[in-house]
Amino acid sequence: MNQAKRIEILTRLRDNNPEPTTELAFSSPFELLISVLLSAQATDVSVNKATAKLYPVANTPEAILALGVDGVKSYIKTIGLFNSKAENVIKTCRILIEQHGSQVPEDRAALEALPGVGRKTANVVLNTAFGWPTIAVDTHIFRVCNRTRFAPGKNVEQVEDKLLKVVPAEFKVDCHHWLILHGRYTCIARKPRCGSCLIEDLCEFKEKTE
Ligand code: SF4
Repeated sequence: MNQAKRIEILTRLRDNNPEPTTELAFSSPFELLISVLLSAQATDVSVNKATAKLYPVANTPEAILALGVDGVKSYIKTIGLFNSKAENVIKTCRILIEQHGSQVPEDRAALEALPGVGRKTANVVLNTAFGWPTIAVDTHIFRVCNRTRFAPGKNVEQVEDKLLKVVPAEFKVDCHHWLILHGRYTCIARKPRCGSCLIEDLCEFKEKTE
């Protein structure tokens, strides 16, 4: 795909949704971190349902640590992998208190050192809580970038590297959200909705649907 097409795609996605953000509900960097950690292999809707009950009771590292692993489990047991996630949440809270003054560190290495936090989660937190021009590549973005040929790659790392190279600075902060939302609601996994896709004429997917 050439750069003129990429810029047109980004321009259309921006015009359609000028101020995109995550669908995870959060009101602080800490809540965002915990919600992203809980969202691995789970839907944002299921995470929001659980945190709507958890955060009014506990939304600081100290308060969640005081709940303990079993206390956290009781709020998140509807979310996949809740056992290991509860353990990671508690360990993460302890590290935030002991090493970061109870704050979420604005630092990639420090974030990735937290239990249950990988590159993707760190990218989301740096982008959405702190405004960094990072682009977290999840399953939706991976699929959209390969189908459209916007930024093809064999794995998420290759797609992230390509995106960081080809997405102009003015689009970088919001690109992650536009691509995720496009993949979640239009360029869906099983049967993309090409007939109602606003970038259909620019997309280079060979098997478009009606
Ligand atoms: S035209 Fe189809 S394959 Fe291409 S981006 Fe749109 S929905 Fe996805």
